Amino acid sequence: MGVYGIDLGTTNSGIAMIGPTGRPEVITGLSGAPTTPSVVLLTSATDHVVGEGARRQARLDPDNVCALVKRRIGDPEWRFVAHGQTWSAPAISALILKSLVSDAAFAGEQVQRAVITVPAYFGDEERRATIQAGTYTGIDVAGVLSEPIAAALSYGFSRLTDGLGDSTPDETVLVFDLGGGTFDATVIELADRRISVLAVDGDHQLGGADWDERIALHLSRVFCSENPDAEDPLDDSVGSQGLLIAAERAKHELTEAESTSVVVSHDGARSIITLTRTQLEDLTGGLLQRTIDLTRSCLAAARARGVERVDRVLLVGGSSRMPMVIRAIGDALQITPELADPDLAVARGAAIYGEKLEIERLVADDLRTRGRSTDPADVQESCRRVADAFGLPVAGVRRMLEISVDTVVSRGFGVLAVGRSDSVEATWLVHRNQTLPIRVRRSFGTMRADQERINLTVLEQTGHEATPRPEDAKVLIEGAITDIPPGYDAGSEVRVTFEMGFDGVLHVTAHHLNADIPLTLSAKTGATLSQSEVSRELEQVQRSRRRDR
Ligand code: AMP
Repeated sequence: MGVYGIDLGTTNSGIAMIGPTGRPEVITGLSGAPTTPSVVLLTSATDHVVGEGARRQARLDPDNVCALVKRRIGDPEWRFVAHGQTWSAPAISALILKSLVSDAAFAGEQVQRAVITVPAYFGDEERRATIQAGTYTGIDVAGVLSEPIAAALSYGFSRLTDGLGDSTPDETVLVFDLGGGTFDATVIELADRRISVLAVDGDHQLGGADWDERIALHLSRVFCSENPDAEDPLDDSVGSQGLLIAAERAKHELTEAESTSVVVSHDGARSIITLTRTQLEDLTGGLLQRTIDLTRSCLAAARARGVERVDRVLLVGGSSRMPMVIRAIGDALQITPELADPDLAVARGAAIYGEKLEIERLVADDLRTRGRSTDPADVQESCRRVADAFGLPVAGVRRMLEISVDTVVSRGFGVLAVGRSDSVEATWLVHRNQTLPIRVRRSFGTMRADQERINLTVLEQTGHEATPRPEDAKVLIEGAITDIPPGYDAGSEVRVTFEMGFDGVLHVTAHHLNADIPLTLSAKTGATLSQSEVSRELEQVQRSRRRDR
């Protein structure tokens, strides 16, 4: 069959599939490693290197190396410029996806459809941009799935699919996901064949890379005080890349050891700097505290939904290996956290979800072809036919169909409207942590006869609280409802429907009630790139060839 699971990570990416045993398996790349660094080196206008080769090159050719692109993915203005060409974040991400797809082809797997994971706290714009990256790659994105749900699916796979659920009690799990560039805290209820996300919180500008920056800053200070005549390595791009790489290496070593030494050579000078785990923890305590604060806020939101206690804490993301993280979360929650396959759980969970979507599609197609309803006997018969066609156990197909996944809105959304004091303010239609899918309607009256258009600004919450201040919100869509037919008095009603599905992507449609016709919503700004830019980037991504270094 074939819906693959892709973890498009900030620092590392991976791809998995359901193997012949029915279990998720990670596909190893050309290098034999299960994950590929999410680093792209543009070697010319038409060639690039992805992964370890690009990472190694970062020091020598820093201006043409793009890392941590996922931190930029919701920013429609951001561009990476190399060899006279501009790349948006979805286009750079597409090169990473292309590399995973060609590695899979090397392993004999043709990837045409995939589920791509995103941090739970990603909003609409970042989710759309991730889908755009998949489209540039030429793969059909079967869905975007929140990373903690993927991790929970991977963790709970046996109980969900092996029928162990009947004997295992329901569990409330906190997924603490600290990766290279993003942090998510999610409270999930794991019941028999059901995964429900109850609350999410996080910060997609917080991750291991911030630890590296703090360490690099410290190393540069020590180096400068020991070598007052030398330049600060952070003052040029080659020096800072070198320092960041050294900082990350030292951070990894301090996960195992109490102390390490770092050699910093720059501008003809050299220092050997000792760094202890205690120093690392002092330098980065503020970052860790932020993860704990966000976790507490997520737990408070879960409590408001009736969660009295957490039974288990799953640590995912490479940065949750750090002893300071394990200790702090254990102290804060009084539960010993478990490191749950921190690098591969997300790709594996995405593959499980992909398989579920594929089975749903096959069963629905079979029912349709045979002209059957969703009557249990008909569904059972379709499960049997799908199982026979693909050599799968019928019970397995049935269980995959029965697993249900519920999730919540990661950020509230609303519209800009004139408030009571005649000032323009944000009116929230949907709040963070409301259960998905959601459909809300809002009516707008025309102000005068024969009015042709109504301006519409759709906002997304950025801060913790949904305030009426427009400055605290991000504009998702700034546009207008156009083509309102003539011949209607002032006050004729235009109904706007806001729909958000399980994937967290918002769809807005408008309808003129008196005329009973759909209206066009044209966006002036927002998540989408212009059509001409999309065509240009599509061609650029397709033309660029991967060089293996
Ligand atoms: P991920 O985005 O989940 O691939 O996580 C990558 C992040 O985990 C990077 O910032 C790495 O530096 C960090 N990381 C991976 N292994 C370790 C380790 N042993 N100790 C500390 N940080 C680590």
